Amino acid sequence: MASNRSYQTCDFLIAGGGLAGSLLAWCLRERGATVLLADLPNPSAAWRTAGGLLTPVTGRRLAKSFMLDTLLTFAKEWYRSMEQQFGATLLTELPILRVFRSADERSVWEERRAEPGYSQYMQPAQDAIPAGVYAPFGTGIMTGGGRVDLVALLHCLHSVLPLAETTGAPVRVEELDITESGVKWRTIHAEKLIFCEGWRGAYNPLFSAVPILPSHGETLVIRTAGIPDTCILNGGAHVTPLGNGLFKVGATNGWSTFDETTTQDGLAELRHNLDNLIGVPYDIVEHTAGIRPAIKDRHPVAGMHPVHKRVGMLNGLGSKGALYGPWSAFHFADFLVNASPLPAFSIERFYSSDT
Ligand SMILES: Cc1cc2nc3c(=O)[nH]c(=O)nc-3n(C[C@H](O)[C@H](O)[C@H](O)COP(=O)(O)OP(=O)(O)OC[C@H]3O[C@@H](n4cnc5c(N)ncnc54)[C@H](O)[C@@H]3O)c2cc1C
Repeated sequence: MASNRSYQTCDFLIAGGGLAGSLLAWCLRERGATVLLADLPNPSAAWRTAGGLLTPVTGRRLAKSFMLDTLLTFAKEWYRSMEQQFGATLLTELPILRVFRSADERSVWEERRAEPGYSQYMQPAQDAIPAGVYAPFGTGIMTGGGRVDLVALLHCLHSVLPLAETTGAPVRVEELDITESGVKWRTIHAEKLIFCEGWRGAYNPLFSAVPILPSHGETLVIRTAGIPDTCILNGGAHVTPLGNGLFKVGATNGWSTFDETTTQDGLAELRHNLDNLIGVPYDIVEHTAGIRPAIKDRHPVAGMHPVHKRVGMLNGLGSKGALYGPWSAFHFADFLVNASPLPAFSIERFYSSDT
């Protein structure tokens, strides 16, 4: 048996260096904890593919996300503070131009706008049509949202977070030695281990009670001219300006493919949606795929295993990692370091009291 001296020690070993794991590692370090990040490098991790959009009202029903006002304010302030720490541009606040696909959709917009708590995010429907955009039913401007450059954010965080010496290998449950005093994995001894595996968490045998539903998504980067680059277009697809004539187009949503490869069907769907939205020529520069870690109830999940109290998880950021990530990581770090109760998203909702 190896002596203690041969172990790297830390308060928290984080398994997964994507958005959830990196944000949590950062928040734990801010609270004085020692952290090691063990990431299985993955060029198709969700954070690399994601548009990073912060969209206040979403879906056909144009509903606000759960706790939107709190989460959005928190997230924007958090990204601004990260920008100051790293001297990087991470958050671009942009109006989102909802392009109505039907008269009904326009009516839903007006009805929603009239509800309490919505008008701050939704301006009145209008008939003005921006150049290069098909909008026979008009448009509505959504405010308060924008785009987070998740790749830039993760590069900033990875530049300062300590990596486990064994980085490059996945942390596998079968390799763990979980004792009352901590968790051993290969050459690391941690007080606690937190899994932040994204969609791969669906196959973690310790957390089989947590219903993670992987959702496959594909995006394009196109080069074009003649459409607005001062707003995000949203109508069948999202078209987000990236600068220098480049735009991100997304995203598809599939529930049957659980690998991160692009498909011809995905490409056809994206092109179809794009061609219904803009009327200018474009070149496809990039076509990527990734998998979102969605939870059945669409809320993130944070907390410790009911039996193995030294092992926990942060997951379920779904299609709203940019919105949910900072708040979830911040409060989970408080829970882990300061024993503060979790104000929301506790894993306990998936465990019965007699587990
Ligand atoms: C096509 C697409 C579009 C999206 N658009 C948006 C958007 O516009 N706005 C938005 O907010 N969100 C968007 N998302 C969602 C966002 O990307 C996710 O919410 C977020 O990336 C989830 O973060 P995560 O850390 O849980 O998972 P990931 O980002 O997938 O990271 C998980 C990491 O953990 C590693 N890992 C897994 N298992 C292990 C293990 N056992 N040991 C070590 N490492 C491990 C993986 O290799 C990976 O590096 C989109 C996602 C997709 C796929």
